[in-house]
Amino acid sequence: MPTEEFARRIETLLAQLGNRQDPQTGAVTVPIYYSTTFSHPAAGKSTGYDYSRMANPTRGVLESAIANLEGGTRGFAFSSGMAAVNCVLGLFAPGDHLIVSDDLYGGTYRLFEQVLAPIGVACSYVDMANLESVEAAIRPNTKALFIETPTNPMMKITDIAACVRLVKDREIITIVDNTFMTPFYQRPLELGADIVVHSATKFLGGHNDVLAGLVAVKDDALAKRIGFLQNATGAVLGPQDCFLLLRGMKTLALRMERSSNSALSIARWLGGQPSVRRVYYPTLEGHQGRDVHCRQATGGGGMVAFEVTDARLVPKILDGVSLITFAESLGGVESLITYPATQTHADIPQEVRERVGVNDRLLRLSVGIEHPDDLVMDLEQALSGV
Ligand SMILES: *Cc1c(COP(=O)(O)O)cnc(C)c1O
Repeated sequence: MPTEEFARRIETLLAQLGNRQDPQTGAVTVPIYYSTTFSHPAAGKSTGYDYSRMANPTRGVLESAIANLEGGTRGFAFSSGMAAVNCVLGLFAPGDHLIVSDDLYGGTYRLFEQVLAPIGVACSYVDMANLESVEAAIRPNTKALFIETPTNPMMKITDIAACVRLVKDREIITIVDNTFMTPFYQRPLELGADIVVHSATKFLGGHNDVLAGLVAVKDDALAKRIGFLQNATGAVLGPQDCFLLLRGMKTLALRMERSSNSALSIARWLGGQPSVRRVYYPTLEGHQGRDVHCRQATGGGGMVAFEVTDARLVPKILDGVSLITFAESLGGVESLITYPATQTHADIPQEVRERVGVNDRLLRLSVGIEHPDDLVMDLEQALSGV
């Protein structure tokens, strides 16, 4: 990170990630330190590195990068987004209660329901777009809000600052999964949230080639506790993957801008198609919560969800696309199309899914960096065959 006093813009910080981190050699890209252990200069002395689970120089560069980008004080890197979420959930104990977005990543729901609930940490799933429902869900033992905004895949918008205001005097912390927006578009810590989690596998990495999770916090006591949990539970990111992630993050600004611009034009185009009933995109005209989103984020991101008029169209569209790849995941340079009902959200019971809108007519696009006209043409020919 630059040492100059003036604040650099985020595009600049991103492009420079890993530079000036190795004064010994002047390496411009961060070196990959594979050493698991580090020699001690003398009895009772340490270079700052003892054993790589506790701290690794390559990982350290990535961890301070995410802290800096999110406006936090410390960052932590994990072997996957789920490992990051799981580590943060180590803050809670049996008897605690969490309030969680009712439409969220299927793997996070599975972790809450099938791992946390059996050990006595209860969750209430709430439409966080509605502050009264959040307030009504608060119990004496509520310890945290867990927010996704926009949600996956319905793009529901939660007012982060308003949620923070609601809970901050009650010793309830606010955790935001910022995977969809990345710090390029949205910085929850600056809006008052306590913890940001990421599946860095998605937009941060950006190339569908590294599985990783990141956490950023601003409070020192919380940072210490998460640092303890990261080392105690051990799902840290390996040095090669830290390098790959940093390499991907250097182009985050360019990728996010391209994906967002294309996603908005694709969302508008989809809205005019007779076989499309509804389109969900955070900055699309008429999208519910658009004003809140535009207040707390500076872009719409690369994800678009749309509902077709008949479930029988779904397999035809999935077979019909030839440029866009039918695959799970999101946030890479290659555009993907996903069928949440059977893929990302298959672990959520059907009635729960349907209630939040994840029905069997819903498709989700992760818009990559291809030429937007080629993406529209691919969708056009897939939809024209139905
Ligand atoms: C993918 C994803 C996760 C899980 O991350 P992994 O890296 O796949 O473990 C969590 N939250 C959101 C919003 C995601 O999209």
